Amino acid sequence: MKLSKMHLRTLREVPSEAEIPSHVLLLRAGMIKKIVSGVYGFMPLGYRSLRKIEGIIREEMDRAGGQEINMSAIQPAELWQESGRWYAYGPELWRLKDRSGRDFCLGPTHEEIFTDIVRNEVSSYRQLPLNLYQIQHKYRDEARPRFGLMRSREFIMKDAYTFDKSYEDLDKSYDTMYGAYERIFNRCGLTYRAVEADTGAIGGSNSHEFTALSEVGESEVAYCEKCNMAATSERAECLDAPAEDCEMLALEEVLTPGTKTIEDVANFLGLPQSRTMKALLFVTYNQEGKEDGYVAAFLRGDRELNKTKLVNALGIPEHALEFADEEKMGAETGCVGGFTGPMGLRNCKIAVDSELLGIKNLCTGACKLDHHVKNVNYGRDYEADIVADLKMLKEGDPCPVCKNPVKYARGIEVGQIFKLGTKYSESMGACYKDENMEEHHIVMGCYGIGVTRTLAAIVEQHHDGDGILWPVSVAPYHAIITIVSSGEPAQESLAEEVYDELVAAGVEALLDDRSERAGVKFKDADLLGIPVRITVGKKAGEGIVEYKLRRSPANEEVDRAEAVRRAIEFVNKEK
Ligand code: ATP
Ligand code: MG
Repeated sequence: MKLSKMHLRTLREVPSEAEIPSHVLLLRAGMIKKIVSGVYGFMPLGYRSLRKIEGIIREEMDRAGGQEINMSAIQPAELWQESGRWYAYGPELWRLKDRSGRDFCLGPTHEEIFTDIVRNEVSSYRQLPLNLYQIQHKYRDEARPRFGLMRSREFIMKDAYTFDKSYEDLDKSYDTMYGAYERIFNRCGLTYRAVEADTGAIGGSNSHEFTALSEVGESEVAYCEKCNMAATSERAECLDAPAEDCEMLALEEVLTPGTKTIEDVANFLGLPQSRTMKALLFVTYNQEGKEDGYVAAFLRGDRELNKTKLVNALGIPEHALEFADEEKMGAETGCVGGFTGPMGLRNCKIAVDSELLGIKNLCTGACKLDHHVKNVNYGRDYEADIVADLKMLKEGDPCPVCKNPVKYARGIEVGQIFKLGTKYSESMGACYKDENMEEHHIVMGCYGIGVTRTLAAIVEQHHDGDGILWPVSVAPYHAIITIVSSGEPAQESLAEEVYDELVAAGVEALLDDRSERAGVKFKDADLLGIPVRITVGKKAGEGIVEYKLRRSPANEEVDRAEAVRRAIEFVNKEK
């Protein structure tokens, strides 16, 4: 392709809305276009890279036994009502009505649609196992669309669903898909970790997230360097502090004026924060979106609440729990902002972190302005409606498996896989008959990859101050031939010959024949990140060109044939 003919507009300036390198560079390289907040279109070069990622995914999905289909983005509400997710999915679900008032949504994911197909078309064990997938647009009305393709409202996902006869067969399907995901992300040039994950709104029992390591990622991963523990921060189990075997002291109410935070109380009373207990106050919402109760969650003062664990313990979706208005909640439950303890609370669920059962003589709020109580003990002084691990595992905490201090890394969730079990086949009635004509629920798994997010993650891991450094496997083109002085016949003809030879050998090449200054062309070549660069300049008459890889600084003068040979060899090795 000749750049003079290509629809390409690169930007010198950093677009003001872009905060992270992948967003800046994809916009500056003219690869994506913002349509409206959280909605992007793909321009020629960006679309080529996107199709290459899709190609890798297709190859590996097909190799893993998947069959590609393509379902609609529009989905009828009835299916979501059947699965219970019309409510559970919450405000991210993009709902719409047709002209006669019937409810629909734009699919954020497709468990319902795929389960519906299979319940209607599969009836016998002979038709199982089955692995169906698609690559298409998904819609989520994200609260905070940001970072370009990372968190958008319209994005491309590969979603696959497996249907098996038994849990043992599901384990096999899951392992096959896990292996396919490893190959996909390796081939995309990503450095990633596969970590245990929470199942969230998708549901099911067991899940892994594939997280591309990056400082700008929104996912946090806890991992242990000694054993193989690796989990998302939401999922990571946090060990309880060892139970204490000391005497329970008598309760003592103390005056603690103005000490609204744990830090204030601990300082005021000269206690470590780990000898205090803090309250977090929430309101819950029912299916109609109306307030339907209050929750007070208690943790050791120096711990942080893990909201995912709390909603899981309460058995409600994440969007049904919000921080309460303390005054309003106080009138009904007796809590007092900054001075709430479990004693004296009424009309509210008490959720207690499991380690509080073993720690003795803690100081907590007295449910009375400017007062705390010392020596509070679980069992003797208060009880709970829910006891569970509600705390966030933090960097340096003991690993839940081997007790070695855990480490934390940030990353971008590029894929997630789930063992769904019979969650959807039960709610939607998807069954098969076995050899004895006995009926069973089909056992399901589901497997997503954020295709557009993967594109952004690749740029996040492969760039420098001048632009993108595409891995060959997903580069929009493999090589770019730059004519230093367009209009010079010797340079133009040599460049065209080199271009023709590369194309004939299957190298995807760009020819920068634009009548721009050489400096502009080099800057664009750096920005676009094409892996191999061949520059045809003053020595064209002698058949000498410059050969350079985008990812290394070395720039060598070589014979034209040598440049072509090296380019072909490099591309074939890396693609
Ligand atoms: P997140 O936690 O980032 O919101 P999720 O866990 O809700 O993602 P899944 O339902 O697991 O996402 O969807 C499968 C994949 O789709 C994710 O692993 C991610 O790569 C991608 N994805 C999800 N939401 C978005 C989005 N808003 N924009 C781009 N890609 C997304
Ligand atoms: Mg996910």
